[in-house]
Amino acid sequence: MSKRLLLVGAGHAHLEVLKQMTEHGLPDVDVCLITPSPYQYYSGMFSGFTEGIYTEEDTRVDLRPLTKRARVQLIQKTAVTIRPEQKKIICHDGSVYPFDAASFDIGSRSLPESVEHTAAQSIKPNYLFTERMKDLRETPQPLIVGGGAAGTELALSIQAYKNMHQRPGQVRLVTSGPLLPDTPKWVRARMKHILKKKGVRVWEDEEVKAVTDSSIETSRGNKIRHTGVLWLGGAVGDAIFTRAGLDVDDRGFAFVSRTLQFKNYDYLFGAGDCVTLETDPDLPKSGVYAVRQGPVLWENVKNFFHHQPLETFVPQKNALYILSTGDRKGFLIYGPVHTHNHKAWQLKHKIDREFMAKYK
Ligand SMILES: Cc1cc2nc3c(=O)[nH]c(=O)nc-3n(C[C@H](O)[C@H](O)[C@H](O)COP(=O)(O)OP(=O)(O)OC[C@H]3O[C@@H](n4cnc5c(N)ncnc54)[C@H](O)[C@@H]3O)c2cc1C
Repeated sequence: MSKRLLLVGAGHAHLEVLKQMTEHGLPDVDVCLITPSPYQYYSGMFSGFTEGIYTEEDTRVDLRPLTKRARVQLIQKTAVTIRPEQKKIICHDGSVYPFDAASFDIGSRSLPESVEHTAAQSIKPNYLFTERMKDLRETPQPLIVGGGAAGTELALSIQAYKNMHQRPGQVRLVTSGPLLPDTPKWVRARMKHILKKKGVRVWEDEEVKAVTDSSIETSRGNKIRHTGVLWLGGAVGDAIFTRAGLDVDDRGFAFVSRTLQFKNYDYLFGAGDCVTLETDPDLPKSGVYAVRQGPVLWENVKNFFHHQPLETFVPQKNALYILSTGDRKGFLIYGPVHTHNHKAWQLKHKIDREFMAKYK
């Protein structure tokens, strides 16, 4: 009798597994992909979409032809419960999926409980992005919470859209620490200068304490008006792992070993933002690592079924980041090195196009 592998979420690493399935197959294993949307949206192109350079089609992979080619059953549902001992996954509609092995690549969430049910909106899961952004970029005072790579990039992209399409208004960005907190101080200073020059108003070292329909209040007592709030204040884990009693870190991300297996359950695998490597708990939640984990994940789920030794994922020390700053300019950061010019954006454009072409 054939075995069953459940892939939960269509994140970066699972796209690679699907591609490998297309090329090599996995004999005697039924593979299903559980994911809520028929599309996987690619965050590397979110800034270009916001600014108006990319279409919605450019930013997403249609999972229907990809799963068809891979001979994988696509189940358009959200997984809400894991029963690890019983080897079952339960979806939002109550349907139950038994498995022999399961792999999770469901990304992160960005809305903390304290601001749920307020005007603050999230773009996670990623398929919410385009609709959210189409609305937000048209409002006069959009406010972004979070000064990390995603927050600064989207603030600049919305401002670029406004400037280019003569939409009135100014983007506001509020962040609890410094801008780009994981970078050296000269990189942060440069980003601050870019934001100012492009017309984005920034509040640093101010934590958002309350969100109402028309304003936010900060830890320094500032009341800042807004016409829409996008919350990018740091990744948190989906509650699915905590509810299942799995071993998670303090933000709810499931711990995995370097073989990408969950602690205590060798038949549960995970990759991307939703997991934390026990050996490297401080690795940023970034697509770069999700992409690099893809080939290792493929080898390991395959070897698991074939009773072969597994491979290990060793993260690289420095990752290349190129943030779009508007008008086809990019801010390239690699460790202590940074540069801001059109060439950097062209490189980003090339990398992102090539990534998407692999799965389309
Ligand atoms: C604006 C922006 C720009 C960014 N730019 C970059 C960049 O340039 N470089 C970089 O390295 N990182 C970037 N990031 C970070 C990057 O987006 C994430 O690290 C990356 O998307 C994580 O990939 P993933 O494979 O873990 O999951 P995701 O890409 O988030 O995919 C998760 C998938 O799981 C599905 N899913 C979610 N929950 C469930 C569930 N319960 N059941 C079933 N399916 C589910 C989702 O629908 C989706 O298909 C950016 C983030 C943002 C917001």
